[in-house]
Amino acid sequence: MGKINKNNWKHQLESGISSTEQLRKAFAHVNIKKSEKFYQEINKIAKLFPLKISPYTFKQCLKSKAIYKQFVPDKNELVNFKGTNDPLKEDSRKPMKKLIHMYPDRVLLLVTDICFSSCRFCTRKRIKKAYQKISQKELNDACKYIAKNTQIKDVIISGGDPLILDDSELNIILTKIRNIKSVKIIRIGTRAPFSCPDRITDQLVNLLKRFKPLYVNVHLNHPDEVTPEVFECLRKLSDAGIVLGSQSVLLKGVNDSSDIIKKLFYKCVEASVRPYYLYQCDEVLGTEHFWTDYQAIFKIMKALIGNVSGLAVPNFVFDCKGGQGKVRVVPDFCKNKNKKSITLKTFKNKLYTYRNTGGME
Ligand SMILES: *Cc1c(COP(=O)(O)O)cnc(C)c1O
Ligand code: SF4
Repeated sequence: MGKINKNNWKHQLESGISSTEQLRKAFAHVNIKKSEKFYQEINKIAKLFPLKISPYTFKQCLKSKAIYKQFVPDKNELVNFKGTNDPLKEDSRKPMKKLIHMYPDRVLLLVTDICFSSCRFCTRKRIKKAYQKISQKELNDACKYIAKNTQIKDVIISGGDPLILDDSELNIILTKIRNIKSVKIIRIGTRAPFSCPDRITDQLVNLLKRFKPLYVNVHLNHPDEVTPEVFECLRKLSDAGIVLGSQSVLLKGVNDSSDIIKKLFYKCVEASVRPYYLYQCDEVLGTEHFWTDYQAIFKIMKALIGNVSGLAVPNFVFDCKGGQGKVRVVPDFCKNKNKKSITLKTFKNKLYTYRNTGGME
């Protein structure tokens, strides 16, 4: 990657790999030979699910197996049928096409359907990438809905990746949402700091700064993703007073070990990113090879809680199939309890009993 160039991010967005032929060329270019069978499989997968890898991401794929697995299609996608297209039933929680209203006081606004690079395990893998952006009318309608439902306090700008939009388009969206009196929180969910660091231009940072308090949740899954240039992007955002959080997905063969997860969250904290969620992988069609047994997340939690800085410990969540929402899980630190006392197990496996002083019968 060269120096951050104002227009280079457009190149990252438009010139990535999005067909079998382009993938073949990209591998040939770095003298990597793959079998004909491999390309036949890729061809089949690309017909079922989105394929998109930005030049920057492809470079990282060659350096890290953990990154490669997240972006280069795998033949398992063709034989995994346990998942469903829309496990979170998002499509049934839409008061309008571009708005998901699942929880009482917050909504998710879908401003585009594409990303710089398509993760193989994406929850919205079902969405055929039509390179769509939210229209003026859709945006106006969504804002009207939000303004009318004054219980909505928090708007999450999502997609796809909102940062594929131009600064001027982001400016319109952010301005309209900021003008709704009842909205207190604006969040942006993005993977751009990793999948296209060039996107984090000074101009973008100056734009975002105007909408503080603004929360940006970045999607990071492996410490290898936090390269020096990614680190610099995150610092730039946080130096501008934007509050950064991270969302990560637990992925078999990528990051399903306590050591990797610890390293990832320490790196996040070092870059002023507060780990927010670690998700159990959603049960999406064609992603089963990434699913971990439920015990894995509990084992990782146990390794983290008490043993690493509390700032590096996120919430652990399952997003329930059928659109029933997120459930936070915590390992059971309660040994036993009755009306009068509770006995807890510490992170060092010692017991501690707290007794009520009375009053409760
Ligand atoms: C996760 C999610 C949110 C935000 O939930 P928080 O727990 O507040 O982060 C909102 N809407 C949808 C549809 C979501 O999936
Ligand atoms: S960045 Fe997020 S929305 Fe985009 S492909 Fe990855 S998981 Fe899906």
